[in-house]
Amino acid sequence: MTNALFQPDLMLEQSDSENLYRALLDRVADGVYFVDTQRQILFWNKAAEQLTGYSSEEVLGSSCADNILMHVDDSGTCLCQNGCPLSATMQDGQPREADVYLHHRDGYRLPVHVTTMTMQDRHGRVYGAVETFRDNTTHMSDLERIQKLEEVAFLDPLTGLANRRYLDGVFVSRFAEHRRHDMSFGVILADVDHFKQFNDTHGHDVGDQVLQMVAQTFAHNCRPYDIVGRWGGEEFLVIAAYTNGPDLHQLADRLRVLMNNSRLRAKKTDLHVTASFGATMAHPKDDMPKLIQRVDALLYRSKAQGRDRVTFEE
Ligand code: GH3
Ligand code: MG
Ligand code: MG
Repeated sequence: MTNALFQPDLMLEQSDSENLYRALLDRVADGVYFVDTQRQILFWNKAAEQLTGYSSEEVLGSSCADNILMHVDDSGTCLCQNGCPLSATMQDGQPREADVYLHHRDGYRLPVHVTTMTMQDRHGRVYGAVETFRDNTTHMSDLERIQKLEEVAFLDPLTGLANRRYLDGVFVSRFAEHRRHDMSFGVILADVDHFKQFNDTHGHDVGDQVLQMVAQTFAHNCRPYDIVGRWGGEEFLVIAAYTNGPDLHQLADRLRVLMNNSRLRAKKTDLHVTASFGATMAHPKDDMPKLIQRVDALLYRSKAQGRDRVTFEE
């Protein structure tokens, strides 16, 4: 393996290479510091400054046993005087890892994962030790973070239904099953009728509440394998798995009837909306754009024929 640092045209003076290594350490995301055998801090990188709030000027030359970081463990035991992983490592030469809490300059406790190891000269004599530490906060809430990200990525914030991005993924799976295992599926596209006029008459906030009502009607009245999502502004899409034409048609008509029979109590009146539907089964030669185009054309026919109806094509 070639190493750029050791190429002849890149031979560095000792002071240059020292600067280079300092610069490299300043660019790593983990906090890194070095202590000599007296536990005097001789190096403190940029990430250490950021994680602890202490600048290198403040800490260089002081002893880490002076309780700057005041590492404590889970039970609150202060490790600096008793149980410091760094001094234990210097005593027995063994590297260590631990989850501890450092004391930030602003007073709070930050959970960090620390690793310690010795530095030895060419004769194997220990002349100090290095501690690296990283913020453990995210590690502790990974699951929450992933759930939150999925929510943001795949849920429509107004209705709580799957968003279009999620539906795109469902299409990929349904088409794969369709091709490989001959599993049939169908789609239903619904568009609220005269919704612009509804907003103009009752206000956008009431319009939002109606969309939430429609979403709930859809979500509670599909089968467990069906995925319901918000396709666009006032358009909803159902991807119905393991179904056949007549069942799909029936599902679309049930949704239409239930919508027509839902009421939103707002401003002392009962408001309701209808929707027009298109419904079709996926064909062997379909891809997602073709299928969407067909169901959209069927929906358009429902609009043209007077709205509040389902147009189904096998
Ligand atoms: P059509 O029966 O032909 O579908 O008529 P329409 O008025 O429903 O159709 P159009 O596409 O002209 O208008 C759609 C309206 O839906 C306009 C837009 O303001 C409204 N809309 C879209 N998204 C939202 C939303 O999130 N909240 C509210 N309140 N209104 C929305
Ligand atoms: Mg529309
Ligand atoms: Mg509409």
